[in-house]
Amino acid sequence: MAQELKPDICVIGAGAGGLAAASAAAAFGVPVVLIEKGRMGGENLNGGDMPANALVAVAERANVIRNAARFGLKTVRFGVDFAAVRAYLRDVVNAVAPNHTRERFAGLGVRVIEGAARFSDPRTVAVGDFAIKARRFVIATGSSPALPAIPGLADTPHVTNETVFDLTDCPRHLIVIGAGSVGLELAQAFRRLGAEVTVLEAVTPLASDDPECAAIVLDALDREGVKLRTGVEIKHVRRALARVAIDIMTPAGAETIEGSHLLVAAGRRPNVEELDLDAARIRYEPHGIIVDKRLRTTNKRVYAVGDVTVGPKLTHLANYHAELVIRHALFRQRVSVDHHAIPTVTHTDPELAQVGLVEDEARAHSGVIRVLRWPYCENDRAQTTQATNGHIKVVTDRRGDILGATIVGAAAGENIAAWTLAITQKLNIRAFAGLVVPYPAYAEVGKRAAMTYFMRGLTSFHVRRIIGWLRRLG
Ligand SMILES: Cc1cc2nc3c(=O)[nH]c(=O)nc-3n(C[C@H](O)[C@H](O)[C@H](O)COP(=O)(O)OP(=O)(O)OC[C@H]3O[C@@H](n4cnc5c(N)ncnc54)[C@H](O)[C@@H]3O)c2cc1C
Repeated sequence: MAQELKPDICVIGAGAGGLAAASAAAAFGVPVVLIEKGRMGGENLNGGDMPANALVAVAERANVIRNAARFGLKTVRFGVDFAAVRAYLRDVVNAVAPNHTRERFAGLGVRVIEGAARFSDPRTVAVGDFAIKARRFVIATGSSPALPAIPGLADTPHVTNETVFDLTDCPRHLIVIGAGSVGLELAQAFRRLGAEVTVLEAVTPLASDDPECAAIVLDALDREGVKLRTGVEIKHVRRALARVAIDIMTPAGAETIEGSHLLVAAGRRPNVEELDLDAARIRYEPHGIIVDKRLRTTNKRVYAVGDVTVGPKLTHLANYHAELVIRHALFRQRVSVDHHAIPTVTHTDPELAQVGLVEDEARAHSGVIRVLRWPYCENDRAQTTQATNGHIKVVTDRRGDILGATIVGAAAGENIAAWTLAITQKLNIRAFAGLVVPYPAYAEVGKRAAMTYFMRGLTSFHVRRIIGWLRRLG
């Protein structure tokens, strides 16, 4: 007979969203059960953000060393010790892991249960020997790499984000399926560590970003030797002498590409299979669980947060979801999820960061818009570091209210935070034009772009006449 538990909140999944929800609920002294079937920390820690960004950081340093001569520095001999790189990724993950252990969460007052959770009815979750009847449930089971239905893929050796960071050698020729953020970040990183890299994309690379800014990233990758093939239909994947062969159809005809390793980075699928959502009367679709503006599922006792829901898949979004759920579940606040000011960052070099509307969306939304730009090559900080590739592009309505910003260039991911605040707080471009930015800083590109909004007015006949009148007053 199963042991019955009756906590206030039961969270399923100990990734970014689940950990944030469980720790916040426990901090308010509420009885919480957290169920995790695998490693604590989820994708962020174990196969996503942390190892990927650590690899990007390693590759960035490799690139700095390669280009040291530009700064007048002589390097003796450059080489990559891939085993040491792999150890470095582990060190980074191990440095963060203590924040996510079962023991730490037990110390916070969270009861952690190991096992795969499954709904047995709309009010009960079963896991191991337990039957949990919570007042509210939070599904935070995340997503897994989607494997496209390509003939031969299942029988051909390949890696995904779950296994790529365990490679013991740098691939000789890495073929990447998918030119989204993750595919391109890893493509550039492996290229910088010495691999030949080919990326195959059926449609448009970085499809959800501003095309003008995305093109700068794609151009940089091209110059570094990443071969990006777009409009490619993959017909068949198979083992070959070189390890993997891919038969593709391109606008120019049929072709076969051979490589030593294959990385599949072709999107995500929500982790719902084991949950028996039908038993709980929770509706879902191929992209995730359907939620309302309060992040409640079709079963009002059950919330869903993070990657398992329909919508963007980002760690900061999972955290934001968790915060809203706790406010609603514990305090009954009338929260309303709002995705329009959620920033996204592609950690390539140059970085690509976006928040709010891109130009086309803004035009469709507001009709008459203003597009403001400022290039990194006009930024003194960028000149000192040679990070002159890129620009900021800000979109406002005719009154100067900020609708969106895209930054492609150094520290884009850091500097997008200010524009996120601007959009959240419904600021006008005037706020940025009047901002005093430290010198020299990459952030100055934002101020300079903002100032261009007023340039037309400054040079107008009307303004010159006023200046003339004032001058006459002494
Ligand atoms: C390579 C890569 C790089 C990324 N980089 C970034 C980045 O730089 N910035 C960013 O914002 N996002 C990034 N992401 C996305 C980010 O990792 C995810 O959006 C985030 O981890 C989602 O958190 P989550 O809590 O929704 O799910 P997860 O972190 O996936 O956690 C879900 C947890 O639920 C558990 N689980 C699943 N089913 C059950 C069950 N039935 N019972 C019990 N437990 C279960 C799983 O084991 C897992 O631990 C990256 C993703 C990848 C793949």
